Amino acid sequence: MKHVDYIVVGGGISGSVLSYTLMKYGAAVQLFDCPDQNLSSNVAAGLWNPIVLKRLKKVWRADEMMEELSTLYPSMEQWSKTSFYQSIPIRRVFHSPGEQNNWLGLTSNKAFAPYMEDKIDPLPESVIGQHGSAMMKQTGRLHVNTMTKAVASQLNSQGYYSEEKFDWSKVIRNNEGVEYNGLRAHGIISCQGAQMALGEGEIAQNGFAPVKGEIIRIKLDKDLGNACIHQGYFMLGEHNKECSVGATYAWDGFEHGPTAKKRLELEDHIKSVWLGTGKTIHHTAGIRPATKDRRPMVGPHDHLQHTWIFNGMGSRAVLMTPWLAKVLVEHFMYGSELLKECLPSRFKASS
Ligand SMILES: Cc1cc2nc3c(=O)[nH]c(=O)nc-3n(C[C@H](O)[C@H](O)[C@H](O)COP(=O)(O)OP(=O)(O)OC[C@H]3O[C@@H](n4cnc5c(N)ncnc54)[C@H](O)[C@@H]3O)c2cc1C
Repeated sequence: MKHVDYIVVGGGISGSVLSYTLMKYGAAVQLFDCPDQNLSSNVAAGLWNPIVLKRLKKVWRADEMMEELSTLYPSMEQWSKTSFYQSIPIRRVFHSPGEQNNWLGLTSNKAFAPYMEDKIDPLPESVIGQHGSAMMKQTGRLHVNTMTKAVASQLNSQGYYSEEKFDWSKVIRNNEGVEYNGLRAHGIISCQGAQMALGEGEIAQNGFAPVKGEIIRIKLDKDLGNACIHQGYFMLGEHNKECSVGATYAWDGFEHGPTAKKRLELEDHIKSVWLGTGKTIHHTAGIRPATKDRRPMVGPHDHLQHTWIFNGMGSRAVLMTPWLAKVLVEHFMYGSELLKECLPSRFKASS
């Protein structure tokens, strides 16, 4: 029988960050994942930003999240000897003088000042608009696929990664912990993201409200460099004059992949904001594991013994997971409090 401290099910952003954090605190982990069935992390643009750009509101617990993010990802890079953490300023384009004034007003508020430049810039060449733009500070991009693959590869080299479907019906629970196919552990943490949110996993949890998102990759006539420009949708510069554009939001149509309707929505956006040409070369769709009250899901499963949920990251997994992983792992290690507003039990018990 092989002993580990925790079994982690799901190797998207959540399971990868959580596995690393557990190891950082000295725990042994066995990670199970089906990377080819990933419905969300594989398509994420990977942007992080502590401010909700449309409404200029601060993300819930943004300061704590930013502090943890800025140390955790670089330490994961060192551990895995792989680069995936990139700082990129995000440019917010204004649509009216009122939006400009609102921005400048917030820059003198000490809660917002660390994240917003206090000056209005002209728009970059080829971007259409009349009211200028301003830069966010401390924003960036995580190359998500590179990160999840690096974690899987490191764990695999040590014999702690299983690229296979975890079969919940084979779990045996007793007072000491769990047993599964020759493995013994204190507990299992489900990081099954979109699959649990869609009710497709073998263990159920109420309270999810999944949101479908689509992104196109276009070839521009001009290089955007590393820039990220936000005006309702983001335009994120890739290499070779390519640029990712997204993301859309939809609360149905989960069974279909990328749709012609959303592709058109994004292409129309580009026509309205870009003076040059842009040709779509790739189109993807994914499912955000969001919850009904927009708070993540971190804590014990309501009736399965030794079973935990780490999910519900919605559209902000990159920003949220480092801090939430720390909260959960410190609860395991030191018995510190979990966050009441994130407990799965805030929703009616699952069946
Ligand atoms: C179009 C789009 C753009 C986005 N852009 C951003 C962005 O810019 N920034 C940001 O922070 N977030 C973004 N998001 C949101 C982000 O992608 C999600 O919040 C995040 O990917 C959720 O990660 P997760 O690990 O919780 O779940 P998932 O990515 O769904 O991963 C779950 C994993 O668990 C595995 N799994 C499930 N069941 C089992 C089982 N029984 N056995 C083994 N493995 C199992 C799955 O195969 C999968 O690999 C975007 C989402 C979409 C759709």
